[in-house]
Amino acid sequence: MDTSPSDPLLVALTGGIASGKSTVADRFAALGVPVLDADVVARELVEPPSTALEAIVGRFGTGVLQPDGRLDRRRLRERIFADPAERLALEAILHPAIRHTLRDRAIALPDAYGLIAIPLLNEASGYDWVDRVLVVDAPRAVQLERLVRRDGLSPALAESMLDAQLGRERRLALADDVIDNTGTPAELDAQVHRLHARYLELATGAHRA
Ligand code: ADP
Repeated sequence: MDTSPSDPLLVALTGGIASGKSTVADRFAALGVPVLDADVVARELVEPPSTALEAIVGRFGTGVLQPDGRLDRRRLRERIFADPAERLALEAILHPAIRHTLRDRAIALPDAYGLIAIPLLNEASGYDWVDRVLVVDAPRAVQLERLVRRDGLSPALAESMLDAQLGRERRLALADDVIDNTGTPAELDAQVHRLHARYLELATGAHRA
């Protein structure tokens, strides 16, 4: 009963690659909902001068820098894609800083509720301060087809990107709410509107009671 206007309901938005996270985030944003994005924060955090960037260079060498001293994201991506140990090392540098930044910004939101897009959310990623988890879900075949179409990838590369991600069942197990994005954009919109009404209702009630 002590919910105050300065205490927004925080909803993590996640889903597999090409499930429709960005599309959903855009729909909520169009309704006036603030959307924070872990990927955007990750990019901000490595803009020089940056302690995170220094740590990355310390671990991966200057080969992951562009001539202008900024991070060569593509080169780094290639390094971590091929090697799980390298990926874990990068995550150990970046993820705590991303989490802290998102949390600071999220709790300062002046709105009734806010979304935090976290593509790599999993059971252990430390976002226990969010109030709810919203998963955008689509069957693997639909993800594959959208991924190939959106990014012009070969089906084989798209498959390997899906294989590198958290499985659908484990992701769904995290969900308080699910958007089924198998259907048309109009069907997606209807689900977003329903959830928006629900979140407003929760935000003005005692969601932390
Ligand atoms: P994510 O952010 O999860 O990677 P996107 O929102 O970029 O996924 O969606 C992947 C692709 O599928 C995009 O090209 C998007 O326009 C398209 N898309 C998303 N939802 C639908 C839908 N319901 N019907 C058809 N295409 C969709």
